[in-house]
Amino acid sequence: MTSFPFDPDDEALRCLVEALTESGQAVSIFDADDNLRYANKTYRGMFLGNYDGPFTFTAILRHAHRNGLGVRIDGNDVEAFIARTLPRRRSVPRKSFETDLVDGRWFWIDHTVLPNGWVLSVGADITALKHNEKSLRQAHEEALLASQTDQLTGLPNRRHILGLLDEALAANENTVAGLCIAVIDIDHFKAINDAHGHEAGDAVLAHFARSCRERVRAQDHLGRTGGEEFLLLLPDVSLDHAVRIIDRIRDGFPPAVVEHSGLELPCTFSAGVTKALPDDDRSAILRRADRALYAAKEGGRNRTRVGSEGRR
Ligand code: GH3
Ligand code: MG
Ligand code: MG
Repeated sequence: MTSFPFDPDDEALRCLVEALTESGQAVSIFDADDNLRYANKTYRGMFLGNYDGPFTFTAILRHAHRNGLGVRIDGNDVEAFIARTLPRRRSVPRKSFETDLVDGRWFWIDHTVLPNGWVLSVGADITALKHNEKSLRQAHEEALLASQTDQLTGLPNRRHILGLLDEALAANENTVAGLCIAVIDIDHFKAINDAHGHEAGDAVLAHFARSCRERVRAQDHLGRTGGEEFLLLLPDVSLDHAVRIIDRIRDGFPPAVVEHSGLELPCTFSAGVTKALPDDDRSAILRRADRALYAAKEGGRNRTRVGSEGRR
């Protein structure tokens, strides 16, 4: 009785090996002593090149590493790689994993250990899939960044800067150093729009964003909360220091220049500054800063006012 097709005859075996030899999959089989007993063309291209032995697993890895072939090795230390790989090589009867090659290709490897200790490895080229994955990830990152960024100024938009404020408040709970924030509003901005047009107004906003960002520290965050209003987060500063930072922005604030006309537009801003209190949430601290901003406007604009703790 024949057990077709599970018991291949000699002809079937011959054809199987011939087909495997030409296959685009990378196929190899090592015996229980880790001598390579069969490798198809794709596998040879990956690991062997013109290598003429010895054909043990470790000798092949060393040869490949020396000749810029085979798998990419973290840290470029082939001996450490061998020491990591050998104990795991026959630890489970079946495993699959992805690996990348020195030449930039990616393979999905299916690894089978037979009861007699022989190891069959079949690798499929998944380079195209990995490229798709990478461009999807990049597209996702770009979309995320765009969703957080104000187009005109390139600053964090309202939602993003308020999220950063929440994070800064949470981080502030565990530190001794203080968090200060400033709500900043351009003075008489409507008049700039009215006198010189919306584009000139846009130029002033972009100019403010650039100038302000240049004058704050790397750990500070500036975001545009709407219209001509901005929120500045100043972690790790005293109230006095925060006021000095705002003064520095104000003192060095050059007039905006409209690109096409060369028109110079001097402008000023008012700021309300306050320091985070231990039980502050987003709305409490913003309310205090807003009140201070209002006082700065009332006081004649182009100035900074501090939001006092008692007036919450
Ligand atoms: P104050 O000194 O009291 O802050 O007066 P202001 O004129 O700056 O404030 P007001 O709130 O009266 O006017 C803000 C103006 O900002 C009104 C609005 O048309 C304009 N605006 C809001 N968003 C933009 C924008 O993206 N571009 C431009 N060019 N103008 C904007
Ligand atoms: Mg204004
Ligand atoms: Mg305003």
